[in-house]
Amino acid sequence: MRTVPERRIVADFLVHNIGELLTCDGSKDNRLGILRDATVRIKDGKIAHVGRDDTGSHDALTPDTIVIDAEGALCTPGLVDPHTHPIFAGSRAEEFDLRVRGATYQEIQSRGGGILSTVKATNSADDDELVQSTAARFERFLRNGVTLAEAKTGYALTIDGELRLLKLLERARAQTAVDISPTLLAHVPPPDQDRKQYVARFIEELIPAVAHEQLAEAVDVYCDAGAFTLDETRAILSAAKAHGRMLRVHAEQFTRTGAAELAAEIGAASVEHLEELGPGVEKLLARAGTVCNLLPGAALTLKLKWPDARRMLDAGCRVALGTDCNPGSSLTESLPLMMSLAAMQMGMSCEEVWLAVTRQAAHALGRSDAGRISAGARGDLVLWDASDHREVVQHFGVPLVRTVIVGGELAFPKE
Ligand SMILES: [Zn+2]
Repeated sequence: MRTVPERRIVADFLVHNIGELLTCDGSKDNRLGILRDATVRIKDGKIAHVGRDDTGSHDALTPDTIVIDAEGALCTPGLVDPHTHPIFAGSRAEEFDLRVRGATYQEIQSRGGGILSTVKATNSADDDELVQSTAARFERFLRNGVTLAEAKTGYALTIDGELRLLKLLERARAQTAVDISPTLLAHVPPPDQDRKQYVARFIEELIPAVAHEQLAEAVDVYCDAGAFTLDETRAILSAAKAHGRMLRVHAEQFTRTGAAELAAEIGAASVEHLEELGPGVEKLLARAGTVCNLLPGAALTLKLKWPDARRMLDAGCRVALGTDCNPGSSLTESLPLMMSLAAMQMGMSCEEVWLAVTRQAAHALGRSDAGRISAGARGDLVLWDASDHREVVQHFGVPLVRTVIVGGELAFPKE
């Protein structure tokens, strides 16, 4: 069984004098649930009370309650990143420099770059090294306001190696306050193994083992040219569904494969990328309730076309935003930067951007108690060096996170 580490001291908090509070739990005419001059009370790791400053439960303070004066600042739910690849070793800085100087994919491959170079480095790194580097990434997520992140495997490409990465993710999680939602990723077919046999073992051995040991909440397949075919994707996802895992699909990033239609048909929790989403498919995704996890960092790095968020939102899709944090195509832990890119380049309003990194991202992870500030939700919140939620989207590329509380723990800055 997957165990939640119990190493943390959970304190009671009273955060008062909040200038603008986004509960992200609002109604149609105030979808962000904006409250002004607000107070939030956290008890036993959960949100206990949200209200106007003068109705706060000050009388219930105990000697152990930590009182934080927000001094009129913006307070939001902890951010939720629904798409990351955080466990890997090695650096692809040389490949990055080659690419920005115009090298082709083939040239990069011939110089030893690409996913397979990360696979080699990851498989030869020792356990402690991987745990430490992954925990360091989670700490950087935290400093950017993220309190819950999805985390994919995918850089082992062997049955035992992928299981190892899931177990090491759990160890990394125990070293940081950020909560994670682990995903088993079928990334690319390993070039040194029989492809058919690998897919068969993934389905018959790996997925049942992962489900039995509760090591991953979801299974994701990268369906594209150079990765898995639509038929292989369907077979892997069907097995994952039969084993009670949530489903995700990397779809329509470089080529149009029909993976987004498959995601809607099979009831995937989320579908990732969608730069090349085919006409009308957004309607299928909206009807299925599949969250569109859009990844501006990958489009920026690889100079792809921006995902058409506007088209998806107008069709009624749930749209979330992720960093896609990975060593090749999007090396960033800054979800706030993704928020700025989505507003500036993808036609999303500030309101839609905030919902995309809170409520919608939490929905993609099946965590209804995250991404909102309301009684009973997780005791996560962020105080910002801003007084208006739109400023965080406009003021890009600089750290604006002042304070992060995760599960009733003061996680940043550390005391
Ligand atoms: Zn990805």
